[in-house]
Amino acid sequence: MSAELDRVLDLLKNSHKTVALTGAGISTESGIPDYRGPHGLWRSVDPMKCVSVDTLRSDPWLFWRFNLPRWLEYASARPNAAHYLLASMEAAKLLDCIVTQNIDGLHRKAGSSKVYEVHGNVERVYCTRCHARYPMAEAYEQLQQDRLPTCTCGGLLRPEVVLFGDPMPEAFYAALEEVESAELMIVMGSSLQVYPVASLPDLVPHLVIVNLEPTSYDERADAVLRMSTGQFARELAERLGLDLGTGERGDADENTNHKR
Ligand code: NAD
Repeated sequence: MSAELDRVLDLLKNSHKTVALTGAGISTESGIPDYRGPHGLWRSVDPMKCVSVDTLRSDPWLFWRFNLPRWLEYASARPNAAHYLLASMEAAKLLDCIVTQNIDGLHRKAGSSKVYEVHGNVERVYCTRCHARYPMAEAYEQLQQDRLPTCTCGGLLRPEVVLFGDPMPEAFYAALEEVESAELMIVMGSSLQVYPVASLPDLVPHLVIVNLEPTSYDERADAVLRMSTGQFARELAERLGLDLGTGERGDADENTNHKR
């Protein structure tokens, strides 16, 4: 594995613009289950159904009751070593930006500033009728009182998360432009199965994949690191002489205890 890390260091050194593409796997060490990993949510439910525009419209109770408890846990999770690595790399000018499929906001919590959340985030909801915005807590309070989350105008509330069946948001097109001018992409913790994000690695000349399981891009990648994103973060940070932040060890311990 150290030869692969050497390769990553080489690629980083020679890249004029490096971007990271992250997926649910980077947050499993923060206690948030992914969809398709060995302990993924996909094994017990079909997120395509429960996290879709169709379900929001046809069965809003199921939509809110299934999703809200998970999203509240995302909102209280804390970053892990891998999130801190990317924040340190940005500060050290080794990384230009992060394109994330995650909706948990952990990259921003870790201190990264240029983050494209191409699937939205769990912080806010908006009215499907008048588009008024509220914090996610508004939906929670209403659901606690056995009420369907609704706006003062009577319209149904929905999250600012990109659901299956939604068009892609502006952030995706901005991310696309960034990726088109990048030389190196480091993919961390993504099965690369959700499109159109899964087509982004096609746009960069050089590719590094860090994932516990194989992906369909492994064959064309310059380096494949079959390890946890946390371990990768610690090893790369050491090689680069980067600090992962004072909270890292404490976060990791705490999150291990709270793993669901
Ligand atoms: P995915 O679940 O399809 O794939 C995750 C991949 O990460 C798997 O291949 C798994 O083997 C790997 N993995 C898991 N833990 C890892 C670790 N510690 N180190 C390295 N690899 C690890 O995730 P995806 O590709 O992001 O697509 C799923 C969709 O689900 C995305 O659209 C995302 O928005 C959404 N989602 C987000 C969150 C979140 O915000 N944290 C959580 C679940 C799902």
